[in-house]
Amino acid sequence: MAEVTAICRFCHATCGLVATLEDGRITRIIGDLDNPMYRGYSCVKGRNYHAFHDSPQRLLRPQRRRTDGSFEPVSADLALGEVAARTQDILHRHGPRSVAMYGGTFSHFCPAGVMLREAWMDAIGSPMRFSNATIDQPGKPISMALHGKWGAGPQDFTDSDVCLLVGANPLVSMWGGIPSFNPAQRLHEARKRGLKLIVIDPRRTETARKADLHLQCLPGQDVPLLAAMLQVIFTEGLQDRDFVAEETAGAAELAAAVAPFTPERVAAQAGVAAEDIRAAARLFARGPRGNATSGTGPSMAPHGVLMDYLVLALNTVCGRWVKAGERVPNRGVLFRQFSGVARAEKPRAATGFGEALRVRGLTDTAAGLPTAALADEILTPGDGQVKALFVIGGNPLLSWPNQAKTRRALESLELLVVVDPVLSATARHAHYVIAPRFGFESPAITFGNEGITVYGLSIGFPEPYAQYQPTLIEPPAGSEVLEDWRIFYELGRYMGLPLAFRGQPFDMQTPPTTDALLEQFVARSRVPLAEIKQHPHGALFPDPKPLAEPKPADWPHRLQLAAPAMIAELAAVAADIATAATARDPSRLLLVSRREHARYNSVAHDLPALKKRLAYNPAHLNPADAARLGIIDGAVVEIESGAGCIRAIAHLAPDVREGVVSIAHGFEPASTAALVDDEHGYEPLSGLPRMSAVPVVVRAATAEPARGLA
Ligand code: SF4
Repeated sequence: MAEVTAICRFCHATCGLVATLEDGRITRIIGDLDNPMYRGYSCVKGRNYHAFHDSPQRLLRPQRRRTDGSFEPVSADLALGEVAARTQDILHRHGPRSVAMYGGTFSHFCPAGVMLREAWMDAIGSPMRFSNATIDQPGKPISMALHGKWGAGPQDFTDSDVCLLVGANPLVSMWGGIPSFNPAQRLHEARKRGLKLIVIDPRRTETARKADLHLQCLPGQDVPLLAAMLQVIFTEGLQDRDFVAEETAGAAELAAAVAPFTPERVAAQAGVAAEDIRAAARLFARGPRGNATSGTGPSMAPHGVLMDYLVLALNTVCGRWVKAGERVPNRGVLFRQFSGVARAEKPRAATGFGEALRVRGLTDTAAGLPTAALADEILTPGDGQVKALFVIGGNPLLSWPNQAKTRRALESLELLVVVDPVLSATARHAHYVIAPRFGFESPAITFGNEGITVYGLSIGFPEPYAQYQPTLIEPPAGSEVLEDWRIFYELGRYMGLPLAFRGQPFDMQTPPTTDALLEQFVARSRVPLAEIKQHPHGALFPDPKPLAEPKPADWPHRLQLAAPAMIAELAAVAADIATAATARDPSRLLLVSRREHARYNSVAHDLPALKKRLAYNPAHLNPADAARLGIIDGAVVEIESGAGCIRAIAHLAPDVREGVVSIAHGFEPASTAALVDDEHGYEPLSGLPRMSAVPVVVRAATAEPARGLA
């Protein structure tokens, strides 16, 4: 028996763990008290991660679909040889654009996999690379491109006086605003030293319960609320005048654009008191240090890019960026995330570049190609139609908008290859399912959280931290599972393709090791990987240049407070409020997404320890709504939008405000993806449909219904 340190990869938080090894298997997992970032923190999912490795549902070898729809296990050689031949045939008949790839959440946890699948897509010449980033929070990178990135990064939570969270619940989601590394403890410590917390959320979430001010608004009202806060700040002269004058452009246009959003005008539609909007604006502006950030829900609601743009604007108007001479919390250890210079960086394109999609006039974006349009790219005949799809670590059938269309698209493909450790809802439609190594069966580095800083605001490690974990266990005896990278390396070999990363060709005769690939991936890191490996509990690697440098005297760039597309959209929202065009239909509830402690997306719902905590996917609604609709706690309900209908078990929850139903996404058989209309009302830049604040009818189900839900 031995105890070893580990990096959790059940979710994006990559907690530092201690695992007990017995006879080559892991028997117990706890948080690592000696880890300087996580300080012993872990959650129920991470503490049961080893059960996922040994799950009876796990696939131990590649599967090939028979003509009757059932699957047969085959060797990796046979599966990859056939996949290579079929891909080559499709490329020959339809060209490179006919082969697309979708990387889901779990595809990003393996950097070596990212390298080889990108190399393989480069080699076949296909631009059709999609990811979950464009059906999650595409507004963050897109709005950052419109607004500009600040070279020294945002002010840090650790020394903030105020924190504004818009639709974020980091105590459960591990995302946004409060560093997701023991967030409850960090919030507790911050409040003890005087931090003021403002939360805008339709639910009295675990985080909102700790807030000094909670604006429990109706869903989808974040844009008017943020515009109203800006209106108060400009009207009362609470902005950071020096910063605005020196570092920004467009402040006067923004002030004019938010002028119609008086608190009184916004209050009725948003369902909050005008005085609370004023109080939130004043508290945030008073700072003097702090940060505003947003979560997934508002990003998925209408005007998601504009919402994130206004969050950036709020920070900028209040000067909430690290100034010259101040400490830069984390410039990066494995990557260089910030230049460390207190300046607006050179602008980059938000949209309108790269591959043009054949549907809805969408293009590539700062967040990537719009995934919400991929089903149509598969179903729409003509030049460039997608005929083959590779899905890595994702579950499109439960996560892409418009589930019925997604199903048709998956079923119409000539070739669907899914890399997944279980026969997921999507994998069951695949021609081949490749079973991967996963979790502790591969080495890991904490690159994910450093990369997350692309989202811009108080996300990512708050200090220069990094950890490496070697392979801890081998896959089960008799299995044939491949690392993600090996799948694409072998496909390259079968197809006779030379693969390369950053212009450096791979040796296609002798496969590299995962460790060698990781070395190559972080070759430009500030701290060499060999040094990080010396610290099994992870470590802080202080930056020799910890202070932000001043910008050159002739630096020409400024943060943009009045991007034309955003100002035009603000005017449209203002007009809607004036005419009550978006007023709520009282016969409908508004559906919002949520995270549950014992669940992460569509993964591992069958693990006994998690199932014991949450056996089904409850639809949480306010008791007053339930009484009005004749629904009792535990009853099966139907939730119907214009796009589809799902059933769920009602859970009466006073923390959900009236007029709202709150349910987690990605569940089988009742995925909220079935309720999303992907063709109307989508965000014009990102292509993201309305996936939150969706108007739905909720009613008691008529037929005997609980079967399959619990
Ligand atoms: S929050 Fe839980 S699931 Fe996520 S990395 Fe940490 S222990 Fe793992």
